[in-house]
Amino acid sequence: MLYIHCVNNTLVASVKDDTKTNIMGHRTYISFKTEDEAYKNYIQDNLDIDMIDNSLNDAIVSDDLEYIMRVIREEYLSDSTVTIFLIGERSNENLGAYEQRYIKRELQASLYHGQGNTQNGILGIVLPSMYSRVYGGSGICQTCGNSHTYVNITDSTSIKEFSYNYYIPNNKCSWSEDDRFCVLVKWDDFIQEPEKYIDQAFEKRSHPISEKTKVRP
Ligand SMILES: [Zn+2]
Repeated sequence: MLYIHCVNNTLVASVKDDTKTNIMGHRTYISFKTEDEAYKNYIQDNLDIDMIDNSLNDAIVSDDLEYIMRVIREEYLSDSTVTIFLIGERSNENLGAYEQRYIKRELQASLYHGQGNTQNGILGIVLPSMYSRVYGGSGICQTCGNSHTYVNITDSTSIKEFSYNYYIPNNKCSWSEDDRFCVLVKWDDFIQEPEKYIDQAFEKRSHPISEKTKVRP
C-alpha cells in the first residue's frame, strides 16, 4: 500500500508492503516540480494509493525556506529511505538555483547522512517528454573503443545533486551500476514494476558507493 502526503509542491509517499512475509517496505519521498503533478496523480491512480490528509500543510505556512526545508526534513525525510525524483522539463540545473530551490534542498537532505536522518536511496524517473533528451542512443567510445550507451544526465536535463551522484567520478570513460549511487529509470518502466526500482535505490544505501556521494556537488 502506498500512502501519500502533500507538502506545498512536494509529495511524500510511503510505500508499505502489507504482506506479512515482507516487513521491509520502503518509505518513499517524492520530489517533483508542480508542472509534473499529472505524473504524481497518475502514480496515485494507477497504484491505488490511499491519500492521507496532511496537517503539516497548515503548520508550515512560512516564507522562510530554511524553516520549511527543516520541517520537511525532520517530519518526512527522516522517516523515509528512498527519494523519488521526477525528471521533467522544468527540473534542470540550467533554470537556476532559485527555480530549483525546493528540489535541490530535497535531494541534499535526502543525500545527507546524519544521526536520526540516514541517507536515502535516490531514484530518478525520466518522464516521457524527456526521453529524447536523456537517452542519446549508443556509439563507439573514442577512449576505450567499446560501445557505450549515452545517457545525458547533465545540467540541461537534471540538477547537480542527481547528476553528480549518478556519474560518481571513477577515472573511467563509462559507469557501471556499481559506480552509481542514484538509480535511473524511464517512467514507462517504472510504472510496470515500481517496487523493483524502489528496492534498487534502497539497496544503494548499504553499497560501498554510498561512501562516495556528495550532498552539495
Ligand atoms: Zn569508453
